Amino acid sequence: MTRKKIVAGNWKMNLDYNEGLSLFSEIVNMVKDEITGQQQVVVCPPFIHLHSLVQLAKGTDKVAVGAQNAHQKESGAYTGEVSAKMVKSTGAAYVILGHSERRQYFNEDNQLLSVKAEVALSNGLKPIFCIGETLDEREAEQYFDVIKTQLKEGVFGLSTEQFSQVIIAYEPIWAIGTGKTATAEQAQEIHAFIRNEIADNYNQEVADQTTILYGGSCNPKNAPELFAQLDIDGGLIGGASLKSRDFLDIVK
Ligand code: PGA
Repeated sequence: MTRKKIVAGNWKMNLDYNEGLSLFSEIVNMVKDEITGQQQVVVCPPFIHLHSLVQLAKGTDKVAVGAQNAHQKESGAYTGEVSAKMVKSTGAAYVILGHSERRQYFNEDNQLLSVKAEVALSNGLKPIFCIGETLDEREAEQYFDVIKTQLKEGVFGLSTEQFSQVIIAYEPIWAIGTGKTATAEQAQEIHAFIRNEIADNYNQEVADQTTILYGGSCNPKNAPELFAQLDIDGGLIGGASLKSRDFLDIVK
């Protein structure tokens, strides 16, 4: 199995320009000697940082940069928005799509996200596509259905070639920023389910190659157990990605 292991930091709407540069410089210096082979660190800052962080990451292919969103249209009169092509032109390689905060506060649904995924891919960006259930959906034991639908409507319309560029991030909404992590067993159960769905929709080889990240209150304490699970290939880290030491410990 050769799939990539990834730890991605999602800075959300945190850090001004100088703070971002200084945290990223620390991260690059700390992680570049820690990771090997099929491992990758991705940092996803606000748009204003993208170009400068890409410059700071020159000289290592172990740390890549990604955006947290990109618009579904190629260009045009969409004041305040940023296109996938613009993101790509900064040198960024990844884009987070479908984060639950985008789904919740910006009404992004699976249909819109499937267009965003297409557009991101056609502009050469690798989507980190987020899925996950709410607390109500978990308690009502609907989570398999919710995840199945998010996959089907969000990314399973992509061709095999396109999908091979996609990273899936399972982020149970009840675990995001709450300090409440899914247990390693709960997360593994869903990750195995996601991989099965990918095998059903594409084939086993594609499923085996797909990187599936866990996100939701991941920290240096719980990361080792989570990342030791068979189908968990790393994490999407929010809060703990804002502290270089914690982020490095998670990477390690
Ligand atoms: P958290 O956020 O690690 O702060 O829970 C994860 C995310 O929203 O991607």
